[in-house]
Amino acid sequence: MSGYAQKDTTISNLVRRNEDWAAGIERIHPGAFPRMARRPQQPKVLWIGCSDSRVPESVITASVPGDIFVHRNIGNQFSADDPSAASVVQFAVQRLRVSHVVVVGHTHCGGVAAAFEAVKDGLPPSGPLGGWLHHLIHLARHHPDATDLTEANVVSAIDRVRDFIEKMEYLDPRGEQEFQQVTVVGMVYELETGRLRELGRREVWPPQEEADEDESDTATVYEAGRYENPPYANGQYADEPYEDGVYENKPYANGVYATGIPVYV
Ligand SMILES: [Zn+2]
Repeated sequence: MSGYAQKDTTISNLVRRNEDWAAGIERIHPGAFPRMARRPQQPKVLWIGCSDSRVPESVITASVPGDIFVHRNIGNQFSADDPSAASVVQFAVQRLRVSHVVVVGHTHCGGVAAAFEAVKDGLPPSGPLGGWLHHLIHLARHHPDATDLTEANVVSAIDRVRDFIEKMEYLDPRGEQEFQQVTVVGMVYELETGRLRELGRREVWPPQEEADEDESDTATVYEAGRYENPPYANGQYADEPYEDGVYENKPYANGVYATGIPVYV
């Protein structure tokens, strides 16, 4: 059989399955597509995951269109210097106002394997892949176990996402608030079991209106032990300093400083 005569069914299969799926949705939920097209999307979750075909976020979480805003790349990495990932997070947090950002690594990740290979060979992969894996290769030098590296990579990413959101402009040019509280969650998807496992969380609290200066409020907060450490090394609590530059005894209205680290009470 010549190459010409051989039918390429890959794309035609995709299109056929799409037709079957759309027809099925219309049977079960008549008018669902026009309704979806009329309304803006309102996902609550931004998912930053690996490009791996075995970890499709909507399938493994039984989600439907409109549930999850998505950014996927090799090795589920996040860098503020990556305009693709960074603009996705900015849009999700500022415009869509998602409540949660999840970063999901997975077992048997090809990116993790490639990072180990690069450490062993002393040579990164050629082309853009080598550059993209730079951070993962760096981590691989300190985490020689695959599970450790997978988890360290996720933890690194949630820290970076947290730092990025904290540094975002809080007020847009019209003076409107750009984001609400965001919880950044790190997880690993186990290919062996099909289950998600949580690794940790980072809370990002936006700056709030200056709290009223009732001393008893502050004392209550201290008594509750909700903040033991100054939020930032420079003693500041937010990007927007108070006018007098004094931060002491002025927690946010919700009684919690924007520490960027989880506040467990
Ligand atoms: Zn992967």
